[in-house]
Amino acid sequence: MKKIYVARHQIEAEFVKDFFEKEGFFVEVKNTASTDIYQIDSGQIILVKDEDFQRAQKLLSEFEEVKKRLMEHNMGKNWICSNCHEENEGQFDSCWSCQTPRS
Ligand SMILES: [Zn+2]
Repeated sequence: MKKIYVARHQIEAEFVKDFFEKEGFFVEVKNTASTDIYQIDSGQIILVKDEDFQRAQKLLSEFEEVKKRLMEHNMGKNWICSNCHEENEGQFDSCWSCQTPRS
């Protein structure tokens, strides 16, 4: 496996993982915080297969665009769950309480 991307937090890691998985890649996410206690920056490392690395790299520029749009969309206002009516922060795609996807 080769490191293709380092995400700063869980949400970004999920974006990267989803993006590459939709493109048919096998993706592994490694949390540096749990493997290295001396790591100050707790990032999430995204890994792809060695043979997929070059193809993944080419897609990265495309991903940056997708990520920008998603972040802008998701970092919006708080939203209310349609199922349980709990309030959720803008960056979450599903309800923290009942897991219902954001509608
Ligand atoms: Zn809910």
